Amino acid sequence: MASKDIFYITTPIYYVNDVPHIGHAYTTVAADVVARYQRLLGREVFFLTGTDEHGMKIEKTADQRGMTPQELVDEVVERFQHLWKVLNISHDDFIRTTEERHSRAVTAFFQKVQENGGIYLGTYEDWYCIPCETFWTANQLENGNCPECGRPAEKVKEKSYFFRMSHYREQLLAHIEEHPEFIQPASKRNEILSFIKEELRDLSISRTSFSWGIPVPGDEKHVIYVWFDALINYLTAAGYPDDQQRFSRLWPADIHLIGKDILRFHAVYWPTFLFAAGLPLPCKVFAHGWWTVEGEKMSKSRGNVVDPVVIADEYGVDPFRYFLLREVPFGLDGDFSRSAMKGRLNSDLANDLGNLFSRSISMIGKYRQGKIPLPDPTDQRYADFSILAAEIFAEVSVGMEDLAFSKVLQSIWKLVVKGNKFIDQQAPWALAKDDAKAKDLDQVLYCIAELLRLLAAYLLPFMPERSGEMIRQLGLTREHYSQGEDIFSWGKMPSGTLTERGPSLFPRLD
Ligand SMILES: [Zn+2]
Repeated sequence: MASKDIFYITTPIYYVNDVPHIGHAYTTVAADVVARYQRLLGREVFFLTGTDEHGMKIEKTADQRGMTPQELVDEVVERFQHLWKVLNISHDDFIRTTEERHSRAVTAFFQKVQENGGIYLGTYEDWYCIPCETFWTANQLENGNCPECGRPAEKVKEKSYFFRMSHYREQLLAHIEEHPEFIQPASKRNEILSFIKEELRDLSISRTSFSWGIPVPGDEKHVIYVWFDALINYLTAAGYPDDQQRFSRLWPADIHLIGKDILRFHAVYWPTFLFAAGLPLPCKVFAHGWWTVEGEKMSKSRGNVVDPVVIADEYGVDPFRYFLLREVPFGLDGDFSRSAMKGRLNSDLANDLGNLFSRSISMIGKYRQGKIPLPDPTDQRYADFSILAAEIFAEVSVGMEDLAFSKVLQSIWKLVVKGNKFIDQQAPWALAKDDAKAKDLDQVLYCIAELLRLLAAYLLPFMPERSGEMIRQLGLTREHYSQGEDIFSWGKMPSGTLTERGPSLFPRLD
């Protein structure tokens, strides 16, 4: 969107009936990398995450635990907020659907859709899976059970408000066909297209069987269906409905990042709600894959749910962030295993990157008292690096646009490989023995230092803390990394900078 000067990215709001696991960490770290990358390019960013706190499931769980729903959500929300602190997530806002600003937005949105003729009162008779908060028709059930989770579904019959979703079917089909970038990856777009082509039923969007939610305006014994409520969070945080000026700067969102399990809500329900309210659709909905753990599906009953706080503590926050985005192409399913995590840490990070960094800094210390020498820009090696840097920049730009994080990291690693090879070929230790080769040594050391400066720039979104340490040891500050995309071009390392050797970036794990 050329007219928009703020880049707006969201994670889903996470349902607080569950404690945070690797899947939540994955989506949020990915969004954080995008947000940090856009900021590095000099764009203003609004990065939103939060929690979904209403619904029958919360009410039931709270009841079982002898607490009020509000007490329950207040307790669980802290676990999410704590995790984002641990994982160094740079969100600009954290929205909770129990906040007053959100109920105002949901009420206004509901009224708007109602005014536009998108809502009517009818009778609801269907099957409902409480754990999934999902309605099913009788023929979607599998032996009376929810096709999603396999648990028994309950029969429900009550007065309900309906959203006229069927009315927006053609419009949605046309939008998806005209905007191939709207749903990604492409395999997911095809799934959604075939889903819509079958039939789009009107959606029941209110309940009278429980009360933990936002009441329907003017008919307070109904509460608004949790998904109708939840999706509107993306508008609330953008200033809807009160702050029109802010809202028009932020909306539509550039990217909704989600897990594939909630794609239908984001790629079918949400766009039709927006059509009905007369609002533009988000530019892109990207659904990533799921994680198994040690080859098995993650579940509470198996007891193999991975607590991201524990992993971050064992392997380090940045290695964990790196692993999540490097191990699996974004959009596909992946497997978390301790041996794979350790392998990435020891080989990619400790051996390749960590060694390159520490031996470089140590040679600059040894041969030039830590001072970055003056380069000769007419030298062939300098020119070759300059070309390589431009190639990497092009690859990273395209990859980040496509959210192809794993590919982006592979491109960045070309610099790591090149750096190690360059040192071995140029053998600075040999040049240092010959005074006549002093200029040559300057050239080699400059190129290595500049390569490290570039690496720190590329890795800032992925591993902000470790990159910060690289920057510090290089004798630079974050100020040097605030020049927009200029920081990715070759030759920006100021000569005369004093490097400072520090602790190893990625100690090996044995
Ligand atoms: Zn279910």
